[in-house]
Amino acid sequence: MTTKSVRNRSSIATVAIQKSIYEMVKQTAEQKGKTIQNYINETLLMNVERDKFLKVFAPYLSLEHASDNTIFLHDDKLDKTVLIKLKFQDNNSFDSSVQVFCETDDSLECVHVRFAMALPELMQLNLKRSKKHVDGGKIK
Ligand SMILES: [Zn+2]
Repeated sequence: MTTKSVRNRSSIATVAIQKSIYEMVKQTAEQKGKTIQNYINETLLMNVERDKFLKVFAPYLSLEHASDNTIFLHDDKLDKTVLIKLKFQDNNSFDSSVQVFCETDDSLECVHVRFAMALPELMQLNLKRSKKHVDGGKIK
């Protein structure tokens, strides 16, 4: 994509990245067969594009914050906070047993669920919950 411009020194900005994050990103880039520079540039660009897309897809929704097991969205149309949680099935293969659930609409497929599916905060919820997945999978 923008490899040429990235190679041009005058078009490069230097950014400090936490060492722990750098190591994870470097490992992921290697697994994908990409240079760390290309991987970071592509990833940042995709994040910007995702945010732009979400503003078009649902301009009335925004992320308030994410806790251990809940994403709080603000819905301007409803003028209230909507709670998104992960729902774990009672089987042991949690790869296919996690569903994204909207408490406000009691739904697995409302606009809030679709919006939340595009948020990186959702993946962080998932990881946090999966690490603690030892109690039969009930939402607390
Ligand atoms: Zn909903």
